[in-house]
Amino acid sequence: MEKIIDESVQGKALSLEKNEKNTRNLYIESYGCSMNFSDSEIVASILANEGFNTTQELEQADLVLVNTCSIREKAETTVRKRLEKYNTIKKKRPHMKVGVLGCMAERLKSKLLEEEKIVDMVVGPDAYKDLPNLIQEIDEGRDAVNVVLSKDETYGDISPVRLNSNGVSALVSITRGCDNMCTFCVVPFTRGRERSRDPQSIINEVDELWNKGYKEITLLGQNVDSYLWYGGGLKKDFDKASEMQIATAVDFANLLDMVAQAQPKMRIRFSTSNPQDMNLEVIKTMARHENICKHIHLPVQSGSNRILKEMNRQHTIEEYYELIDNIKEIIPDCAISHDMISGFPTETEEDHKATLAVLDYVKYDYGYMFSYSERPGTMAARKMEDDVPNAVKQRRLAEIIALQRDHCLYRTKNFVGKEQEILIEGTSKKDEGMWMGRNSQNVVAVFPKENYKLGDFVNVKFNDCTSATLIGVAVGYGKSN
Ligand code: SAM
Repeated sequence: MEKIIDESVQGKALSLEKNEKNTRNLYIESYGCSMNFSDSEIVASILANEGFNTTQELEQADLVLVNTCSIREKAETTVRKRLEKYNTIKKKRPHMKVGVLGCMAERLKSKLLEEEKIVDMVVGPDAYKDLPNLIQEIDEGRDAVNVVLSKDETYGDISPVRLNSNGVSALVSITRGCDNMCTFCVVPFTRGRERSRDPQSIINEVDELWNKGYKEITLLGQNVDSYLWYGGGLKKDFDKASEMQIATAVDFANLLDMVAQAQPKMRIRFSTSNPQDMNLEVIKTMARHENICKHIHLPVQSGSNRILKEMNRQHTIEEYYELIDNIKEIIPDCAISHDMISGFPTETEEDHKATLAVLDYVKYDYGYMFSYSERPGTMAARKMEDDVPNAVKQRRLAEIIALQRDHCLYRTKNFVGKEQEILIEGTSKKDEGMWMGRNSQNVVAVFPKENYKLGDFVNVKFNDCTSATLIGVAVGYGKSN
């Protein structure tokens, strides 16, 4: 059910083509959300110009970088375990340096150097352009730290290399940071205030990807619907913008329209949407363009108005239902997925039942479901007691997951007997003879390879399904080729 936080890629060493002139080996692995994977591509791009090739063998690394996630305690524990592993390698390769990047670097700052003796370098998500200087520092035997958060860094001028790419789908970052201040969430503290990337640099990147043969992009941000370009700077400073800046501002619906028109055959996805910012214009833009995939990831976190208020989510459950109804009216075949948290402080059985009721109402296509993990520094950690016993959190989570599984099956069964266009993304993990791809709704489909190729759009007729996968046979090339 986890489709964005793809467990199979968590911690996988990322690699790109070797440049013979480069002499040092970089081992880079990423944890957490797609944003981190996209950031690692920016980092690898910067370091490719600094004499580094990537390696997938930890034992051959001169520099190890781990791009980290702080969203839940478990994510940080995983990284600490990896640091232990690097330590054993470092005993055999004393010159090997270790750098921690991303959210954990930002959250713990120089404290990380004290806590984890193995770490030589700590770099926050807005400081990657400083990596050449920081690496020079560690080469000269000093620890290096840069965790300064920026008002305007979007890395718009860096053309990211594509790590472990299938050559078909790519991530394109459009906003950085988050202003929402959900009380459970560490992101505003680790990734800073929200800022949007110049639309022209986004279009250029999409054009470049198309020219290289890519067929699908995912526009990325913590809250993509909040995208707003008015010449640069923080979203929160828009009220100080000039008349000209206001008149020429580009919002998310405008951006989607621009990208969809720039490359009418490129499949376009986006993630994540926040219900408070998603509007009718975005939904109508999706409906207008066939190349914008019919799927919205729309986290709700809880079904209880009281809990939504405590979480500082800026909408009620009634407003959320209205949005869902509008989506289904304007785009009847639109898939909707969610994020849900069980056991937020003070959550009662009544609140939990309200969450199950949302699942029943929407019948989401899939979801990411978590038990609440208190994060130091967040408003919830400061003001509320983590008072739902772990056993209760886990039982409620299990109930949410079980209900969601039923709905996944209900949704995939609806596709059986139908024919849809699938973009081939790779070989099926379970069967070498089958292709794996996705439909517009982001459901995975598998079918016999025949003579089709990676990156082809193929019409597939589905004859069976599991709760997460459609199974079918190809009936010809799709019209998107
Ligand atoms: N920006 C998106 C939003 O808020 O709608 C997603 C942010 S986060 C990277 C992905 C998901 O992690 C959240 O939607 C939430 O469900 C979950 N999450 C964030 N903080 C959490 C916490 N402290 N405990 C458990 N789950 C958490």
